Formats: sequence, C-alpha cells, structure tokens
Amino acid sequence: MRTGYDVELVHLTKRYGDTVAVRDLNHVFAKGHYVCLLGPSGCGKSSTLRMIAGHEEVSDGSILLDGQDISALPPAQRGTAMMFQNYALFPHLSVRDNVAFSLRMKGVEKTARHAKADELLSLVDMTHLADRSPAQLSGGQQQRVALARALVTEPKVLLLDEPLSALDPFLRIRMRSELKKLQRELGITFIHVTHGQDEALALADEIVVMNDAVIEQAGPAREVWTRPRTEFVARFIGGHNVIALPDGKATLRADAVTLGTEGMPATVTAVEYQGASVALTARTETGEDVLALLPEGEFFASPKSPGEAVRLSWTEGRMHRLEA
Ligand code: ADP
Ligand code: MG
Repeated sequence: MRTGYDVELVHLTKRYGDTVAVRDLNHVFAKGHYVCLLGPSGCGKSSTLRMIAGHEEVSDGSILLDGQDISALPPAQRGTAMMFQNYALFPHLSVRDNVAFSLRMKGVEKTARHAKADELLSLVDMTHLADRSPAQLSGGQQQRVALARALVTEPKVLLLDEPLSALDPFLRIRMRSELKKLQRELGITFIHVTHGQDEALALADEIVVMNDAVIEQAGPAREVWTRPRTEFVARFIGGHNVIALPDGKATLRADAVTLGTEGMPATVTAVEYQGASVALTARTETGEDVLALLPEGEFFASPKSPGEAVRLSWTEGRMHRLEA
C-alpha cells in the first residue's frame, strides 16, 4: 500500500473573463482521505478539480502536492489522474489497450504495459472482459475501465468529476461502495466532485461544501451533517429545519421533531413515505414549514393526512445555532 499525499490549495482563484468561478480557496485535503467536493451546479467544483488536474490554468494562487508547487506542471507530470464523467474511452481500442494507453504514450513496451493493465483490470474485476471493445460493455463496466485507466499511472491523487451521475440509481449505489473500497485498498487521496449530498455522506471521510465559488464548510461528514455552519449548508445537506430566532437562526434536525398532544400547533401540508421513515411537513400558525422525519412504525400507529391539525415538539437541546 502506498501512502497518500496532501493536496493544498493556496489562495486558489479561477476567472473566466468577468466570471469568478473559484474565489480564493485555501484548503488542505488530508492525505489518504476520501474527500467529496459537494455543492450545487455552477458553484465551481469542476473548475477546482480541473485546476488540480492541470486541465485548466490557475488564474491566481497555487496548488501544492506533498509540499511541491504543481500549478505550472503539465497534467502527466503532476502525480494526479482524472476520471471523467463520460469515461472518454477510445472506441477502437480493446479494454486492455484503453487501460494501457497512457503507458504506451510514456514508451513502456507492450508486454510490460499489458501486464500492468491486467493488474489494474483485476483490481476493478474486469479481467474477463479485457479483449472486448468499449461498445460491448455496459455503463457500469465502462466505468470500471475508466477507473483502471486513471489508476494505471499510479497517481498520488485520483480526481473524479461526478463519476456516478451517468449510472442508474441501483448501480450508482453499488459503484460507490466499490469506489470507497478501492480507495481504502490503495490508500491514496480521492477527491470526488458531486452535487448529491447522500453520495457525499456515504463516501466521504471529509466533505468540502462549496457555494458560489467559495468553501462554505469543510470537515468530517458527520460533523458537517450534525453541525452545519451556515443556513446554506443546513439546507443543502438536507434533513434540517432552519428556524428563525429573535437574534439569529438555528437548525433543528428533522428527526428530532415529534408529534404529540402538546407543542406547537400546525397543519399538515405534505406526507411522503420513504420506507424506514415518513417525511411529514406541517405549517405553523406563523406560516413556517417544519419538516419532521418520523419512524414509519410511529407514523402508521397514528397516520396523518394533509389538512389535519397536529402539534409539533422537540427538545430544546436539539437546536443548533447557525453562524450565518
Ligand atoms: P460546477 O462543476 O460546480 O457545476 P463549474 O466549475 O463547472 O461548476 O463552473 C463554475 C462557474 O464557471 C459557472 O458559472 C460556469 O458557468 C463557469 N464556467 C465554467 N467553465 C467555464 C468556461 N470554460 N468558460 C466560461 N465560464 C465557465
Ligand atoms: Mg461540474
């Protein structure tokens, strides 16, 4: 197992003409971690990743890998590898030759590069399909090949831009557990861009939440979920209510809200069955919508429909004050 390397962003900025896509990012991605860069479309995730990979020029600031400034190096000399959303496999090459492609570019002779490609194909469980062409593969299989191809150069950091978004939901969940397993086995840093909070929570040791070209919050997945720092993070990560207080705002976890005979009067506006739980939304007399995530057994013991009156309660200690 190789050890990981730190990736450090120092005052990293990207401008496209008048658009500031990435504004003065300062962050250290800790070595050997599975990091998810999470945020809505257009917030600057891909620009950040592409600058780390060297596919996009840095406008200001720098990128350090293991202490060395790599900002000016060509992609192949950085020690990073990128896996693209659309896989970008060569249609006329076999699976094995796709994986071996970058080694061929480096002048590695055929036997050696095929041996290395086969090693990687075995890692992603694709040995049996090595002689096929990409057109003969399913989406999930193409993805494994793309992964093997990115890893064949033994990168210090693997960069993945929305790698699961082209897959159907079932395959997406399966592939994400395989990505996580692979990252553990290799011990290298993965930086994975996603706009899906469930994907980030499932995968990440560290979540870096971006909004509007800046980092809103970074920390262990559980910390970001249990202690969102800003209203944006609380709303984006989901499962929280944002409550206005006389002197600021606080979040209240939806799973901390219960229905009972006492508490704040409200009218049910929506009921959504989610399997293990039921998401019930109710409007208070002051017009605020409160989301309650109720265990399904508890809900069905006394089911509610839209229009019904309920009373909402929670333990005061479950409120968590927001900074902004
Ligand atoms: P994300 O990956 O989070 O969706 P991007 O990094 O792709 O965000 O884009 C961030 C911002 O930069 C957006 O406003 C986008 O329109 C803009 N942008 C991205 N790439 C280019 C480009 N090549 N030229 C001009 N503007 C761009
Ligand atoms: Mg993007």
